[in-house]
Parts: sequence; structure tokens; C-alpha cells
Amino acid sequence: MTELTIIRPDDFHNHLRQGELMPHLVQETEKVFGRTLVMPNTLPPVVTGEDLQRYRSELESVGADLQFLMTFKIIQETKPEMITGLKSAGAIAGKLYPQGVTTNAEDGVEDVENLFPVFEAMQQENVVLCIHGELSGVEDLQREEAFLPTLKKIHSNFSKLRIVLEHVSTEAAVQLVQELGEKVAATVTVHHLLLSTEDVRNGKLNPDHFCAPICKSEADRAALVQIALSGHPKFFFGSDSAPHSRKDKEGEHPKPGIYSTPVALPLLTGLFESHDKLDQLEDFTSRFGAEFYQLPQNQGQLSLVKEEWMVPKEYFGVVPLKKGERLKWKVMV
Ligand SMILES: [Zn+2]
Repeated sequence: MTELTIIRPDDFHNHLRQGELMPHLVQETEKVFGRTLVMPNTLPPVVTGEDLQRYRSELESVGADLQFLMTFKIIQETKPEMITGLKSAGAIAGKLYPQGVTTNAEDGVEDVENLFPVFEAMQQENVVLCIHGELSGVEDLQREEAFLPTLKKIHSNFSKLRIVLEHVSTEAAVQLVQELGEKVAATVTVHHLLLSTEDVRNGKLNPDHFCAPICKSEADRAALVQIALSGHPKFFFGSDSAPHSRKDKEGEHPKPGIYSTPVALPLLTGLFESHDKLDQLEDFTSRFGAEFYQLPQNQGQLSLVKEEWMVPKEYFGVVPLKKGERLKWKVMV
């Protein structure tokens, strides 16, 4: 096959940031995706309906062709009575970050049970709970697995609440999400499908591959690939594309996050093709996520062509995944 056309994909986990970087990130997203779930960990974070509307109008002023699916950040101060207002402002999901696990998560949540009234309100309003599923204070390779009992606990208390375990990175999490019934799903990134711990640190840290959750073992990676290719409707694409400036990545304390928007679809297409599963790609990128979020499929399409291209070393001061490498598939713009 030399050309492939699919329903326009959705990215169900994207960091569009603020300031100078934001318009560039929106434009790159718009070239590929019809809709994108916008993460709320800006500074200050998106916490209220007003924050959400303000951020959305900033995004819309630079990205007319992209549909922004808005989220809010759940913090200790989030109150159940705020959920109705957030929903009417356009929120389709709330994002839970345990304290200290990733960029701007210092205000994350310490005790999940304190938030049960908030989850109750989200369940009632049919707002999705997105979770960065890592427990802080644990060695980084163990953080996701250590969080899984908390996921179970939330689900068993709120069996009708739709939950997305974001950027799933371990075989254990893949197994648990399969077991937990139709209300619990997971996003899978392209970097967790391609990289394992050795690509991140092998004697020394490669900041370009440093992200949270950290990429795990080959066995974990194989489990992710297997589930993504399997056509399981609870596993769908969310890039967690999380750009930082080169300065922030290459300094003494590199920030976690991988910028993958421009390469995600070419890489996914190559991966699915190499396993002879190209027929499953569209479900993973364009159908399962929309179904879980109870959204119609995108109207438009995206075409990719088998034509070699070299990934730039940098996009607007940000290093992309696979910088300087040759990819087989190219997005037709
Ligand atoms: Zn993220």
C-alpha cells in the first residue's frame, strides 16, 4: 500500500501550552487532528469555568479548524458544586494529577478520597475523569503499578463514572483496564509504543525521551503494542504530546515530556503496517476514543502517503520525537 486515507483522527491528550509556543502547537495539531483534548496544566491551571472559557478563546483565536475538547484540573480546592458550571462552560473531562508527578503538578492531589464528592458530581453530570495514574514517592518505574489500587478504588465507588487512565505504560495497567468493565478506558501514546527504559536512560539520561510516566520494559512495551493492534475499543490514541523548550529539556533538571504531534501519525502508520494491522489503525486513532467520549466521528479525513521524509531537528525551539530520523509515511497536508 502506498497511500492510506482514514477518518480524521482525534488526539485525546494534548498539551497546547501558553504564550509564544501555543499558536505553533495548535497549527501543527490542526494539520493532523480534527479534535484534541486540551490538558489543563497551564500556569495558572484551568480550574474554573471562567479559566476554561478564557483558555478556549485564546486557542480558538489561532486554530479555527481544530475543535478543542476542554478539560479542567482537579485540585484539592475543587468543589462538587463547581462541576455543573464547568460542564456548562464546555468541559467534557476533569484531570486528576497526583501531587508532584509531572509538569506543574505541585498543586496535585494528595488524598484521593477527599475528592469523592467531586467524583460523585462528575458521575452525575456525565463528565469524564482523566487520570495521570502514578503514585509519587515511589521509584519511577513502579509509580504506575503502585497507583492501580487507587484506580480500582475510584472505579468501585463510582461504577458509572467514565474514567480514562492516561498514557498507560505497563502491562499491569493494560490488564487492569481490560478487567474493569466498559466505563474504564486508557489512552496510549506513540512514544510508549516505541520506546523502552533503555531508550530513556542507558548510563545517562536522554532528555528527548524523558517523559512521565517513564517508558517501561520491553515486555510492557510489547503489551501496549499488542493491545493497540488488537482492536480493543477501550484503548485509543492520546499523544500526550508535551513540548518543552530545548533549554528546559537540556538543562540540569530536564523536564519530562515528549513532543510528538508532527510525527505521531506517520509513526503509528509505520508500526501498524509492520505488524500487518493497518486495517486497525483507524479504529485506534479515529473511532474508539470518540465512542468512549460519546462524540460523533469526525467528518473529514486524513491521508498519508508512503514517502520518505526527514523529521526536522527542531520545531520552533522544541525537539520532536525522532528528530533527524527518516520516516516512511508522511501526512499529506
Ligand atoms: Zn500529559
